Amino acid sequence: MSENMAQGVRWDLSDLYRSTGDPALEADLKDAETLALEFEKKYRPFFESNGSSPLPLAGLLRDYKEILTRLTKPGVFAHLSFAAKTDDPALGAFLQKIQHRITQISCHLLFFEVSWARFDERAVKKFLSDSAIAGDRHYLEKLRAQAPHTLAENEEKIMAMKSLTSAQAFSRLFDEVVNKIAFTVEIGGRRVEKTESEVLSLLHSSDRPQRKMASESLAEGLKSHTHLLTYIYNMILADHRLSLEIRKYPHPMEPRNLANEIDLKSVLHLIESVKGAYPIVRRFYRLKAKLLGLEKLSDYDRYAPIGEDREKIDFKTCREIVLEGYRAFSPKAAEIAGEFFDKRWIDAEIRQGKQGGGFCCQTTPELHPYILVNYTGSLRDVMTVAHELGHGLHQFLARKVGILESDAPLTMAETASVFGEMLIFEKLFDDEKDPHKRLGLICGKIDDNFATVFRQIAMTDFELAAHGAGIAGGELSSQTLEKLWVKTSAEMYGDSVELTDNARHGWKYIPHFIHTPFYCYAYAFAQLFVLCLYQKYKEDKNAFVPRYFEMLSLGGSKRPHDIAGLAGLDIGQKDFWRAGINFLETLVKQAETLAAERKR
Ligand SMILES: [Zn+2]
Repeated sequence: MSENMAQGVRWDLSDLYRSTGDPALEADLKDAETLALEFEKKYRPFFESNGSSPLPLAGLLRDYKEILTRLTKPGVFAHLSFAAKTDDPALGAFLQKIQHRITQISCHLLFFEVSWARFDERAVKKFLSDSAIAGDRHYLEKLRAQAPHTLAENEEKIMAMKSLTSAQAFSRLFDEVVNKIAFTVEIGGRRVEKTESEVLSLLHSSDRPQRKMASESLAEGLKSHTHLLTYIYNMILADHRLSLEIRKYPHPMEPRNLANEIDLKSVLHLIESVKGAYPIVRRFYRLKAKLLGLEKLSDYDRYAPIGEDREKIDFKTCREIVLEGYRAFSPKAAEIAGEFFDKRWIDAEIRQGKQGGGFCCQTTPELHPYILVNYTGSLRDVMTVAHELGHGLHQFLARKVGILESDAPLTMAETASVFGEMLIFEKLFDDEKDPHKRLGLICGKIDDNFATVFRQIAMTDFELAAHGAGIAGGELSSQTLEKLWVKTSAEMYGDSVELTDNARHGWKYIPHFIHTPFYCYAYAFAQLFVLCLYQKYKEDKNAFVPRYFEMLSLGGSKRPHDIAGLAGLDIGQKDFWRAGINFLETLVKQAETLAAERKR
């Protein structure tokens, strides 16, 4: 049973706190509160004096970071404890309580962000050129970029407090609802309940009836919660609309683009380039149908493996594969990744009520990240572990730029993760000599790449359509959302895939739509970016590795454009995306060649 593949692999959160009742947790919150009150009392007058008393910005930043560090730990601990057991009401209540406290304390710090955003331009310029604040310069620049959308302090306070009962509340409700759905499948004549992760994993089965059953079970589970999931998504759309209106954003993607430090034109160009390459998707799915001996793929065949089923990979072997892949790149990378296993910074076992999917959670510069995955033993899960460890490596290295700048924008945050997957794939592909298995591996890689590039852009297209329809006409019916989903998916598949009636439920379980609107294009950005980056690595390994570490260590302390520049890549170039897309096309050609050879 897949449940056992990583049994007992649970994280140890004691580096944060021992338990929800740990007195150190309360002490951190108390300290943060005291320091925040002092901070406000000490620094507010400087902003109100209109320049008559000079602002001690370097000292302010030092105090500010100290408070944020104290606040981050309880927040992360509550979030991780809840993710590990979302069906425990006590942990839900604990998370809510901690979030409320953090928001209350943060309100004492808000005046700084607001005042800085509105500070006199000339004074700001002078500060930004001061070497004393050099380590936090980019953070200060980013705050300034938010200035046109920053409200008055009291308004920001209300927005922060009310967010707990609006978007954040619906986000949590979404997690609870989806994680609680019991998806029923039939195994050996018995009806068995599966978690979302398990049923999604069955979509990758080599057995067609099993894939069909998984797809039906997924649709059935989601369908039975349509009313609630539609309402939640409508509330997210409405909340987003309100923010656009209140903060005067000209486009629904603008808040995300600003946070990602990429302009709308570049994002639209990315979307256009990927959509223009949809024929590559159809070409591959036609090949895949042939390889599977089918007239045409059904939607539940998209992730079917090519070739024989792989044996399940236990977690210990997964660890070896992943670390070897990282070691071939750099021993230092393998050493850092090894710590995640050795020191129990990973939660991998499958449990009912545990949050689905996978993530890597940043903590504070003094500590280390934590990883959650739902490990069922498939090769895809090995890739997920490699992916999350890429995040882990990135966040681990970026600690040195400090708490204000360690977070990379989403577009760059997916770099190391996707790169990590490439490393493991290359290793497995190079080691495999059997042409049948090589074909299987490359088809699997294409499946993953398509899911990251094309599917994420189709999802972004859906989001654009949903937000657009919401802006035009208010609340949307589930039928409307289903139609938009099918339309944006069908555009990608053309006539290469038969979409069954189950396809219309696909939007209902995508967490990014709820947690972080317009997250998805960052995956396509990162995947295509990494494909270019990987070429650089192949061209000159010795020159590349140290530069790569430098890129990761910068975290979010520079603009993505400048970080990419370190590797000699210009993401501002109009046809930048073409190179990555061409690489995908080459993979498809390679698969076609291997398939033709197989016949002979
Ligand atoms: Zn990721």
